[in-house]
Amino acid sequence: MKNTHPFSRRSFMRLAGIGAGALTLSSVWPAWAKTKPGKKLGIALVGLGGYSSGQLAPALQQTQHCYLAGIVTGTPSKATDWAKKYNIPQNNIYNYQNFDSIKDNPDIDIVYVVLPVSMHKEFTIRAAKAGKHVICEKPMALNVADCLEMINACKKANRMLSIGYRLHFDPYHQEVMRLGQQKVLGALTSLEAANGFRWGSTPTWRLKKAMSGGGSLMDMGIYTIQAARYTTGEEPIAVTAQQEKTRPDLFNEVDETVFFELEFPGGFKAQCKSSYNNNWSSLKATTQRGGFELSPSFYYNGLQGKTTKGPLVYQPMNQQAAQMDNFAQCVALRKPTRVPGEEGLKDMKVIEAIYRSMDNGGRRELV
Ligand code: NAD
Repeated sequence: MKNTHPFSRRSFMRLAGIGAGALTLSSVWPAWAKTKPGKKLGIALVGLGGYSSGQLAPALQQTQHCYLAGIVTGTPSKATDWAKKYNIPQNNIYNYQNFDSIKDNPDIDIVYVVLPVSMHKEFTIRAAKAGKHVICEKPMALNVADCLEMINACKKANRMLSIGYRLHFDPYHQEVMRLGQQKVLGALTSLEAANGFRWGSTPTWRLKKAMSGGGSLMDMGIYTIQAARYTTGEEPIAVTAQQEKTRPDLFNEVDETVFFELEFPGGFKAQCKSSYNNNWSSLKATTQRGGFELSPSFYYNGLQGKTTKGPLVYQPMNQQAAQMDNFAQCVALRKPTRVPGEEGLKDMKVIEAIYRSMDNGGRRELV
């Protein structure tokens, strides 16, 4: 059962880092985030679709180290609505054509790219060249080569690059990292991760391979790859994958459901699956002396978890606010982010291997 008390001692201990390994106090939001001296950093959201409007802009009303300073949109009516709703000055509103002039705007410290995947590379590189630090949404890009270009462009411009991996800032996932990596209940003996939802019939860029790079694997499976990597604390060396299609007319360009096994050094194998046809959200581990699980596991909120020793109980928090506040602090203090471009690149290497395996079903080593 979920603890409904404002703050149990146990949840405090966990949030305070005792249950979260080496994570610092500033990584959890909001009660424990330390206020740093100096101004809040300005974030400009690029692309005002579902994730920006539903999650990021509201989260930026709760952040302590950054704020919604600007927007970049191709739709003039959205610019008007957002300016009014979030009190954004006209000078901080850009479109995709005049975006590069953001370089002259001292209000904007960080550009957050929240566009279809095929546009991530272009806008990350343009932002870095304009002298801005960048957060880019997942999946980082269409392929490994593009990820490398983005990392190199940010390095060349001496700007920091982070990927929108919000779950690294959620206490349930921080606890999973600790339990798995520190073998608190013994070494892992099995790991299963599933993420998906049933797609209706709406056609969007997500179903166009040229814009999305792929289907459920790129969009939903990436969370299970992340989870397998941060629960084991290791990098997969090989994959084996199969796909299933029940609606080939709808999913005629991208994958619908993908089952894949990630093989780690030493032989441990994680079983993962992603879907645009099934409502899945779970992460389940068995270990030598018990086990732990989260279900639902990958949502923005409402996560539930337990170990064989008892329930995991954490206070509701805002993953996106914690994620953006953490990056703002990293930028301000010139500290490395725990979710840099290299994290996105590692996942893309796994994804490319899975697509290679799916093509002909065999075991494929990562390259
Ligand atoms: P969306 O379709 O709701 O929004 C996309 C935005 O891009 C829209 O504002 C649209 O107008 C704009 N756009 C510009 N050029 C476009 C073009 N040529 N075609 C289509 N749209 C165009 O998508 P979303 O759900 O907001 O996803 C955006 C990004 O955020 C994706 O990379 C997605 O994976 C990521 N995302 C991350 C999470 C998370 O939990 N981290 C959740 C949802 C989405």
